[in-house]
Amino acid sequence: MIKYIQSIRGMHDYLPNEVESIKNIENIIKNIVINYGYSEIRLPIVEKTALFKRAIGNYTELIEKEMYTFEDRNGEKLTLRPEGTAGCIRSGIENGLFHNQEQRLWYLGPMFRHERPQKARYRQFYQLGLEVFGQKGPDTDAELILLINRIWKKLGISDEILLEINTIGSPQSRLQYCKVLIDFLNENKTYLDKQCYSYINTNPLRILDKITPHTKNIFEKKQIPLLRHYLDDSSKKHFSNLCNLLKISDITYRINPYLVRGLDYYTGTVFEWISKNKNITKTICAGGRYDNLVEKLGGKNTPAVGLAIGLDRLFLLLKEIKNKNFIIPSRIDAYLIYDGNHIQNIAKAIKISEEIRCYFPLIRIRMNHGGGSLKTQFHRANKCGARFALMLNELQQSDTIILKNLDTGQQEILSQSAILSRLESLVNVNNIS
Ligand code: ATP
Ligand code: MG
Repeated sequence: MIKYIQSIRGMHDYLPNEVESIKNIENIIKNIVINYGYSEIRLPIVEKTALFKRAIGNYTELIEKEMYTFEDRNGEKLTLRPEGTAGCIRSGIENGLFHNQEQRLWYLGPMFRHERPQKARYRQFYQLGLEVFGQKGPDTDAELILLINRIWKKLGISDEILLEINTIGSPQSRLQYCKVLIDFLNENKTYLDKQCYSYINTNPLRILDKITPHTKNIFEKKQIPLLRHYLDDSSKKHFSNLCNLLKISDITYRINPYLVRGLDYYTGTVFEWISKNKNITKTICAGGRYDNLVEKLGGKNTPAVGLAIGLDRLFLLLKEIKNKNFIIPSRIDAYLIYDGNHIQNIAKAIKISEEIRCYFPLIRIRMNHGGGSLKTQFHRANKCGARFALMLNELQQSDTIILKNLDTGQQEILSQSAILSRLESLVNVNNIS
């Protein structure tokens, strides 16, 4: 018999019996993502190598040793995408998606990294990514976290996953911090392994993520400087507002001052959801803000925040615990308008939109992000094709909501308790197709 040709190490098949349950899980996630008003984008698997180098940073493991890079027949240097954010921004810039508009995008597909294969670490793996462009406030970060929380809840794994958050501040504050961190690391280099040692002058922050718990212990006793003492005021305010919004929304999280993420492009908020399951102790989902990346890739200054769920790890976790047509929305059903200048109002708007989502899991509702005048918010509502606008009636200091049909212009004032039944009669929420 002729010897058969095997698959490539670290690249595995999903067989038909697995694919059904994988599709079910993907559909649950997609429905929730659509429920939050995100639109799908499909991107090439291969991009120019220069794109990833510029986006991710030269002194990262990913660029140094994990990329699948090759020359095509014309001698052009190309790379199999190791992550989705760089390609998503490249497309946004190229197609004018960031011109005076907000984008909430999602994608799903394979990513490639030449890592050492092990359980839950593959060379081809699948990510479902979410990226929000054009909003800089903590409301956007908070809602992303709420969205992921809803996914874990729906999949019944909330208790299996721990959310860690941190802020890595502005590039300027990070630069100041890195100076003192480099001094500390140089004084204590005997505790570092070869790889961490090599990062002292090129990517000292990365060392925080790489050191063993034992070394961390020693460093803490030696009072390693912490980034939070070097943060700029605006990052501090952003982070404390985010923490408040999470608390008000009953999200459990832990602040991890060592959480810095592996790619260079992050600014401010970073987060990771880590599996507590003893057989898969890895990060299931991770992300953060990258407010300077669009500009760095040649676009105009556009704040952004995003994350990626590692689907392979999620499937493994679900298997471990449970042994066990998506439709692009042509329209959004409702757009929630409110005065975003006060955190109490943001919290109230979050509460109401979350209640509506609980009641109508298939409704497509967008909460306004980033404040703005009434006119601006109506403009945004129309732009995303909303059928109805819901306005919190803050002016009257009352608990009523104004419901406006954006097609006919008709509006009515409803009590908060009446809004659910009224929406039910207006939007065919049980049968959206
Ligand atoms: P890790 O620290 O585990 O290497 P990472 O920080 O490199 O993860 P990200 O670049 O943030 O990972 O990717 C987001 C998610 O994609 C991860 O949280 C994980 O779930 C998944 N992921 C990343 N690399 C792999 C891989 N080699 N195999 C399987 N899933 C992966
Ligand atoms: Mg990695």
